[in-house]
Amino acid sequence: MRSKIVAGNWKMNKNMEETEALLIELSAKLPDTKAEVMVAPTFVNLAAAVRNLETSRIEVIAQNMHFAESGAYTGEISADMLLNIGVDTCIIGHSERRAYFGETDEILAKKVKTALEKGIRVMFCFGEELEDRKSGNHFSVVESQLKNALFSLESSDWSKIILAYEPVWAIGTGETASPEQAQEMHAFIRKTISEAYDGSVSNNVSILYGGSVKPGNAEEIFSKPDVDGGLIGGASLVSDDFVAIINAI
Ligand code: PEP
Repeated sequence: MRSKIVAGNWKMNKNMEETEALLIELSAKLPDTKAEVMVAPTFVNLAAAVRNLETSRIEVIAQNMHFAESGAYTGEISADMLLNIGVDTCIIGHSERRAYFGETDEILAKKVKTALEKGIRVMFCFGEELEDRKSGNHFSVVESQLKNALFSLESSDWSKIILAYEPVWAIGTGETASPEQAQEMHAFIRKTISEAYDGSVSNNVSILYGGSVKPGNAEEIFSKPDVDGGLIGGASLVSDDFVAIINAI
């Protein structure tokens, strides 16, 4: 179901004490909002974060999972392990996973399939590289990322999908897509989904923007009609900044 969402991806930052301190600060400062608020701490702190937020409306989500059910996959985390500690939403396909850990569309399609079979909601990340945008290929790159990983899903599966459009050139670079660029791409994504499925699927999916969202630019980006919120990296590590971004929605 389409809703407003602000999610913080903490990546490989914050040790146990720092994670706890940030969660306490966020819980104390969380504004009264209808938006869903999520944070994705590192795996070793996930279970503690779930316990810390038991009475909070901040949801703890995972940054990644493996597609296999269990077995000899050293260093990996399964869907069941996430569910077992109370995590039922997972980021899949972040550009850092694609770039540094060789995650291809094919691997991501398998992860999405497993997550949905297990009842895990997927926050699927995708977006073009700088060269794609410069050469005018950004729409076709985004279309093929969606098609390869998601378009074999059933219409009903889409109620468990959140999309996060994250142009790679804007992640952690301080360079943000303009609100107009974000809106243009989000509208294109909705049109592409509507052509592959129908309007009820495309109009009901939440599409977040990610890439150097900060307190100073969040409101304008979030004001665009096809932008349903944000996936926030760096700014989600500072409670005042993350809260300001939540307030912007
Ligand atoms: C991200 O990594 O998903 C992200 C959007 O990072 P940042 O906000 O730091 O650009």
